[in-house]
Amino acid sequence: MAKRILSGIAAVVLLILCMMFEKNTIRETMSDVERCKTEQKKTAYITFDDGPSCLTKQYLDILEREGVKATFFVIGSQITEDMENIIKREIEDGHEIGIHTYTHDAGKMYSCKEKCMEEIEKTGYMLEEKFGYKAKVMRFPWGSSNNYVKNFKSQVVNDLKKQGLEYADWNVSAEDSVGCPTVDSIMKNIKKDCYKYNEPVILMHDSCVNKKTLESLEKVINELKSNGYGFDVLSNRKESCHFCGD
Ligand SMILES: [Zn+2]
Repeated sequence: MAKRILSGIAAVVLLILCMMFEKNTIRETMSDVERCKTEQKKTAYITFDDGPSCLTKQYLDILEREGVKATFFVIGSQITEDMENIIKREIEDGHEIGIHTYTHDAGKMYSCKEKCMEEIEKTGYMLEEKFGYKAKVMRFPWGSSNNYVKNFKSQVVNDLKKQGLEYADWNVSAEDSVGCPTVDSIMKNIKKDCYKYNEPVILMHDSCVNKKTLESLEKVINELKSNGYGFDVLSNRKESCHFCGD
């Protein structure tokens, strides 16, 4: 009789242990799924160089309609009076403004370290004075590893840091300002590299000659959305995007 009671108790204990184990396993599996979901969060950073331009308003309309935030690297000398409302709208719509020098003229801005800093600072002051906007990022025209800037790049980067400015390159290029781009070539170039990264930084251009960029923007956004990407402004990226990982 006692033997039967004991084996009964043992069976109940075993059953309880099994239930506890199963519950823990399920909980662990769930948390693993949750963890993976957070780890795989994908954010695309669309960046437009060379604006403001005669097309910027149309870019902004598309971005607004799609609920997408982007980063505009602007050329100071192009912020003429008739462009001021465009810059204001970029800020009001929650996009980021970055500095892309004042003239974008290699002979001037890359003639020496001092001239390069002068052009960056001039555009920075302009954004602060006219719009009360303090830029956090800048992009070297043709990227940070171009031949013009290589002799004094590290000095410029140090000076930028002192001013709270970070430079930003890209890891995906739409190649929309070379040769004769088409909507297809832009899409192909973006798809070629974009999916290698959870946080792609995409180089596109905002200038009057880049009509194909404007034509492809909605398609680019939808392509990224359907592949699970969200969008944000560049200074919210966890790490700065630099060529060669430096
Ligand atoms: Zn440029």
